[in-house]
Amino acid sequence: MRILLVEDDSLLGDGLRVGLGQDDHAVDWVRDGAAADAALRADRFALVILDLGLPRLTGLEVLRALRGRGDTTPVLILTARDAVTDRISGLDAGADDYLVKPFDLGELKARIRALVRRAAGRGSPEIRHGHLVLDPVAHAVTMSGKSIELSRTEFAVLHELMQNAGRVLSRERLEASLYGFGGEIDSNAVEVYVHRLRRKLGAGFIKTIRGVGYLVEKAVERD
Ligand code: CA
Repeated sequence: MRILLVEDDSLLGDGLRVGLGQDDHAVDWVRDGAAADAALRADRFALVILDLGLPRLTGLEVLRALRGRGDTTPVLILTARDAVTDRISGLDAGADDYLVKPFDLGELKARIRALVRRAAGRGSPEIRHGHLVLDPVAHAVTMSGKSIELSRTEFAVLHELMQNAGRVLSRERLEASLYGFGGEIDSNAVEVYVHRLRRKLGAGFIKTIRGVGYLVEKAVERD
């Protein structure tokens, strides 16, 4: 399975990459928080191993952003021996488990197996809005059970709007959700994607709040 390893210590990172690779895991290794954040926005991983003390963005900031997007990818944090407050903050921010450095590779592997087992039994993280259902894992959108074809970037914009339903998102905020896709983003890219989404989902689903941004209203709960 594909694992994202976030660790700025070269020796430990390399050891983990090799050690986990022996179990046929595909390990993507990044060494700072901003790279981790970009990787998590662009790709899906079965599990994240996340050091907390990182350059550019801290592990906690990466974790809070991940959970803020409604992403339930299992996260195991790595903390220093004396950093009990870090462990508490990490678990409170949505980490599923932790290990204190230095740790045994065999124990790490056992915890990975346990986390993946638990995640498999978890309910679907799909986001529902009336008749519209967005599944972030399968990258699929259906309306009244009928599949809607969206490009990756259209999907990313819709995902960001739906998981923030009820809040107006600025164009800059929506652009940021596209950064993980690489390449230059045109200044009118968000307008273009919103226009295409309206054609596919109906004109009224995404509202323009003039001078502020875009809004998907909160879904009304139906029985
Ligand atoms: Ca570190």
